[in-house]
Amino acid sequence: MKHPESKKPSKRLRKKLLMYFLGFSAIILGALWLMQMVFLDDLYKAIRTVGIEKSAEYICENINDGEIVALLDEVANQNDIRIEVYGTNAVPFTQIYSSVGNMDLSLEILPHRLISYYNETCNQGGKALFSEKIDSDFQGYLPKNESQDGVDLTCVRLMSNGKSEIMLVLRTRVTPIESTVTTMRFILIIITVLLVVLSVTMSVILSWKLSKPLKDINEKAKALAGEDYSVTFEGRGYREIEELNATLNVAARELGLASKLREELIANVSHDLRTPLTMIKGYAEVMRDIPGEMNEENLQAIVDESTRLSNLVNDLLDISKLQSGAVPVEKSVFSLTDCASDILSRFANLFQQQYTLSFDYQQSVSVYADKKRIEQVLYNLISNAVNYSGEKKIVKVTQRIMGDKVRLEVSDSGQGIEPEKLAHIWDRYYRVGSNHQRAVVGTGLGLSIVKEILDKHNSHFGVTSQTGVGSTFWFDLDIYSE
Ligand code: ADP
Repeated sequence: MKHPESKKPSKRLRKKLLMYFLGFSAIILGALWLMQMVFLDDLYKAIRTVGIEKSAEYICENINDGEIVALLDEVANQNDIRIEVYGTNAVPFTQIYSSVGNMDLSLEILPHRLISYYNETCNQGGKALFSEKIDSDFQGYLPKNESQDGVDLTCVRLMSNGKSEIMLVLRTRVTPIESTVTTMRFILIIITVLLVVLSVTMSVILSWKLSKPLKDINEKAKALAGEDYSVTFEGRGYREIEELNATLNVAARELGLASKLREELIANVSHDLRTPLTMIKGYAEVMRDIPGEMNEENLQAIVDESTRLSNLVNDLLDISKLQSGAVPVEKSVFSLTDCASDILSRFANLFQQQYTLSFDYQQSVSVYADKKRIEQVLYNLISNAVNYSGEKKIVKVTQRIMGDKVRLEVSDSGQGIEPEKLAHIWDRYYRVGSNHQRAVVGTGLGLSIVKEILDKHNSHFGVTSQTGVGSTFWFDLDIYSE
């Protein structure tokens, strides 16, 4: 069958992925552009500031080193810093060292600035950092260039070299990085284009990778919906898909089993309904057509078959009601002992001398349960014991008290059940031996009704059986104590 909407999901996935990728790229690009346009200069200045301060600290720590001059040159050249050292004992200060290196001449400090740096540094406790717009002092001396809207960073330290006070001045220029910005802008444009292309490609590849196993699963699920329970879901790719496949495989297996059970059920029910109906019809026709056949025996056969039919219909109704939960469990306190005794005496009346029925108990015990349903359990178990009690025809009901539980056992003297069949007797329609033994009245639903009811009471139950000796069916209930 063609599903016109079968292509939609993968398209939607692709669109969504594309949106996510483009969104992600937009955030990255936005962050990059913002960094470049707004924060780049500030960031650069901050880095240079930290750099110059670190250099000053380094020099201070090593000022008494024998190699100090070489060290100063190295620091100056490596960090693009102009370094000057002054003795401050007399004004004007005497210059002890100056790294000219490859520094811009405009970084030179004029004597009057030097004094003001000194005073300010003294006020700040020997450490100071000055950040000034590129000094207008130089106008007229030096050609104006584009770097003039930057700042000069001057880091000053006052210290002693053992004999007298010296002033260390480190100076560097932080100019707006115009040319770099232009280059970066160009790079950013390339990155933008690359990211968009990459987003599209990635979303196409990913959507294909993600949707392919989903498409496969969809195809197989459609087959499953078409009642093909042999499909196996085996697509690989990522764990979620593998888990989904495993779940669907279990579902397919369960559906297959359920469908098989349903077919068996229909076959069994129709067989069981048809047989008594055919018999009733047959007997009735014989009685109508053949003179002298209108006897009690034939009438009894019709009554027996009608009973079988109504039992079957009742059992079917019971089990479907129990399973659908249509009838809630209505619990009350009642004497389980009296209940068992009543049912047993009903059977005793029915079969009079044919069976040996006994009830063994020490005291009367009450339980809190659904009386009607527990009666049904007892009725089904005792009726099975009677039906399958073999030639000895002995049925024994025993009540045992086990702590806070009471156990009822229904034993018979029948042929027992083979161990490998024991697990199946609780299944609907399961009958040991030949499927439709008409010698024994039974619908094949009795024990599954028992199971449903006891499950609803959260009761433990079971069976022990020995072939040739007999079977004992048992169940436990909580003893009700006030
Ligand atoms: P049925 O109506 O056929 O008795 P049940 O569900 O009550 O259906 O029982 C299922 C099957 O379990 C029976 O057909 C029978 O083969 C087996 N079974 C049940 N009770 C006994 C028993 N007391 N002794 C031997 N076999 C039993």
